[in-house]
This record gives sequence, C-alpha cells and structure tokens, in this order.
Amino acid sequence: MRGDPRHNVRAVDMNIAAHEQISAILDRQRRARLAAGAPDADERRARIQQVIDLLVDRADDIAKALDADFGGRPEGYSLMNDVVGSITALKYSRDNLGDWMTPDERPVFAPYDQLGATAEVIHQPKGSVGIIGTWNAPVYTLMSPLAGVLAAGNRAVLKPSELVPRTAEVLADAVSAAFDPEVLAIVTGGPDVADALTSLPFDHLVFTGSSAVGKLVMANAATNLMPVTLELGGKSPTIIGAGADLADAAHRIAVGKATNGGQICVSPDTVYVPGARLDDFVEALRGAYTALLPTIDGNADAVAIVSDRHAARVDGYVTDAADRGARIESAPDVPLPATGRRRPLRMVIEPPVDAVIRQEEIFGPALVLLGYDDIDEVIDAINAGPNPLALYYFGTDTAEQAAVVDRTLSGGVTVGDVMMHPGLQDAPFGGVGASGMGHYNGREGFLEFSHARAVYRSAGPDLRGEWGMLPPYTEQFRAMMAAQVTR
Ligand code: NAD
Repeated sequence: MRGDPRHNVRAVDMNIAAHEQISAILDRQRRARLAAGAPDADERRARIQQVIDLLVDRADDIAKALDADFGGRPEGYSLMNDVVGSITALKYSRDNLGDWMTPDERPVFAPYDQLGATAEVIHQPKGSVGIIGTWNAPVYTLMSPLAGVLAAGNRAVLKPSELVPRTAEVLADAVSAAFDPEVLAIVTGGPDVADALTSLPFDHLVFTGSSAVGKLVMANAATNLMPVTLELGGKSPTIIGAGADLADAAHRIAVGKATNGGQICVSPDTVYVPGARLDDFVEALRGAYTALLPTIDGNADAVAIVSDRHAARVDGYVTDAADRGARIESAPDVPLPATGRRRPLRMVIEPPVDAVIRQEEIFGPALVLLGYDDIDEVIDAINAGPNPLALYYFGTDTAEQAAVVDRTLSGGVTVGDVMMHPGLQDAPFGGVGASGMGHYNGREGFLEFSHARAVYRSAGPDLRGEWGMLPPYTEQFRAMMAAQVTR
C-alpha cells in the first residue's frame, strides 16, 4: 500500500466494477473516434454548446444542490462561480476555437525551402481525456478544463467529487441526458472510482485536487505513460509592501477570504505584513471582513465548511497554533457557532514555524499573519517553501514589486488585489512545481489538450545524390560537412 502519513492520504483498493465500467466507456470512445476521425470546428462548437445548454437548463438545480451539499452556500455565489464561471470559459472556447485550429506555418530549412518544401504544425485531438474535479468548485473544476478539452476535439469522462453528492447527481443526470457517452460521459463515486479512472489508459488526464492525492494520480498515470495536467493547491502568500494602503489591501483580502469560506485553491493563506503595521492590519482586516459578514451563525451569506472532517481540520490548525503560542483574533469578533459548519475568519498571528498551519494549506476560513522587517526576508521565506499556486503583492514601490515578482516563482500573480489572474480567459492558469503542472484557460487549454504535430511536405526532385551527400561517402562530402561546422 502506498501512503503519505503527513497528509493521511493512502492509495485505495481498486473498484473493479468502476474499472470495468470506465474501461468500457473508454473503449467506446476510442472506437467512435477511430471511425469518425477528428471533429471539425462546427462539431466542436456544437458539443460545447450542448454543455452550455445543460448548464443553463440546470443552473437552479445546481445552485440548490451546492447549497445543500455545503450545508450553506448562497445560490447567487454558486451561480456566479460554478455556473457563470463555467459558461464563460465554454463560450470563450466556442467563439475562438476556429482561430486556434488554424494550422501554423513554419519555415523549412535550406536548401529544401528553395525546392518548394513546406511545413506546418497542426493541432490534433489527443483522444479521450479523464477529468477529476474537487468539491470546492465542483462544477467549475470539471467544466472549465472541459472547455479546452472539447475545443481541441477530444472526448471526455468526468468524475465529480464525492463530497458534494447532490451536485454530482445533478451533473450526472444532465450530462447523461444530453450526451452519448461515446462523446462525453460522467462517473460518480469516491477515491476508489478515481483510482480506477486514473489506472486506465486515457490519452490525457486532468486532475484538480490536493498535492498529496496528485502524487498518487501521477503514479497511476505513469503506468500507462499518460500525460497529466495537475491543478493542485498550496499556501498562496500575500505580501503587504512597505507603502501599501492598509485599508484597501485589507478590504481586498477580506473579499478574497470570504469567497467560498476561504475554500479556494488561490485563497490568500499567509499574509506578510511590515512588523510595525501588523496590529493596524489586524484591525483593518477585522473591520473589512466584519463589514462583509457582520454575523456568522445563521448568516446565509457565509459559506459553510463543506464537511465535519474539513471543519475539524481547520479548527485543529487554529487550536494547534494557539497551543504553540500564536495569538488568535476573529472577524467578526464572535465565538465559534455551537452548531453547523460556518466559522468566522480566524487570524492566526505569528504562529511558530512548527505549527501545523505553517506547513499545510489552510483551505478554509483562517489566515496566517506574519510580521517582517525586510522584503528580502519574505522573498527568502517564500523561496524556501514549495512553489505556490498564486502570489499577491500590495504596494506602490515598483522596485519592490519587481523584486517580489522576479525573484519568486508561483503559478500566477495578482498585484494590488487577490484571486484576479485566474479569471483571465486568455492566459494560462496552473501551478508550478508542488502546485501543479500544465495549464489551461482559453488558447492554453486548446494547446494543452491537443497534440502539436509537425507536418513536412516535400517538393521538387531529391538532389542529395547529385550533391554528393549519399553513400559511398567521399572526401568531398566530409569537407563539405566540415565547412558547415561554424559558430
Ligand atoms: P482531493 O485531492 O481530496 O480530491 C480531489 C479528487 O481526487 C476527488 O474527486 C477525489 O475523489 C479524488 N481522489 C481522492 N483520492 C484519490 C486517489 N487515491 N486516487 C485518485 N483520485 C483520488 O482534493 P479536494 O479536497 O477535493 O480539493 C482540495 C484541494 O484541491 C486543495 O489542495 C486545493 O488547493 C486544490 N484545488 C486546486 C485547484 C486548481 O485549479 N489548482 C482548484 C480547486 C482546488
């Protein structure tokens, strides 16, 4: 049994029935693809439109299911994040795939260019793509990669998270009603089903989830040499620069942390604040967060933590830090609700390095605040850890901003706000190192899920014999080649 004791994530026993079911779908998709060939632009647009239509038709059901699955998630938020977010990505692909599909002419080397040879790069579908989603954005983490997967002419099998069973059921129902599984299928279930899916020879796999499970997925994929896009998480650092406007930064960070109850892969995790301004920032953040969510218990605007296990996980991080001497402040300043899974934002101030919250991604309504004296300390601290998925900087000092961006590496960066760059439709979204590999969104999604195939078309006679380039080799050939060994 493989295992990762730190994350308590273990490989699971294979679900044989799921393996057979998904294997049969994959086989059908492969046979259909070989019979039909690559879909043209109109067919790709029609498939994407079918997904848009099912999301529009089932938007209310999805929002209601998400509210029930979370034990409290505003329907307006679910419509914005999961439904509109997905539809926007799908429309962008639908409206641009024609341009993306245009073959890309490339120069041919001499002397064949003069003989009329041509070359181009064409983008062909890889085949069938497996897409595994998370619970925190259950529709978006499936549909946003699907936009690129379908634009590139692939077929797909989706696997929603088991932590949101009602949402998974609505999606399963809608996808099976709209699609023949030989184009798009959906399978539901837990880690055993995901394990079965990742053990099968898909032509590409998109996994969104934790770094710990990402390692298991990549190990499974390696057995079939299956290419993977891993959209993982991490501790996204947020830097308040020396000249930052504290009230503005606090407001934007509060909005980011209140979004989905902090359960977002790019949610600010650790905030570095100039030491002398730390107390002022705590008060500014408390004020800004309280303005958004003045109460927590029974407040329908506050997104609940998705499960008791995750609520206990986040509470455990805070308690562990407090036990190790960290100061804890709440926004709003209320006690933890006696029931339910809604929580105020817990600001965990200066926890020691060995506190669990300094090591693990928080992924919930808590935030680490650390004071600093010099920006170099912050850059060194970020570089000492795994590459984060996102990095945020607030401040007006352009040299400091450049130092932060140039000397660190993260999946993406937002300056002067948080969580904005993932919304760019035509810019890659993805991690680097421990926060993931590969990326999608817009054209980058089309490229990620296509095979870039070089095509050379010969023209004119074959003159290599006349040029003395073929056996039997002569001294003249050697001299000709030697003359080309140049700097
Ligand atoms: P998770 O890793 O627990 O689960 C994700 C998916 O993996 C689920 O569908 C689950 O069924 C499946 N899975 C579980 N065990 C498996 C196994 N042994 N083999 C194969 N698949 C398995 O993650 P989660 O709790 O659903 O989501 C939270 C994590 O996802 C956070 O780390 C967050 O940062 C990350 N995330 C990343 C992005 C991104 O775009 N980069 C987006 C959302 C969430």
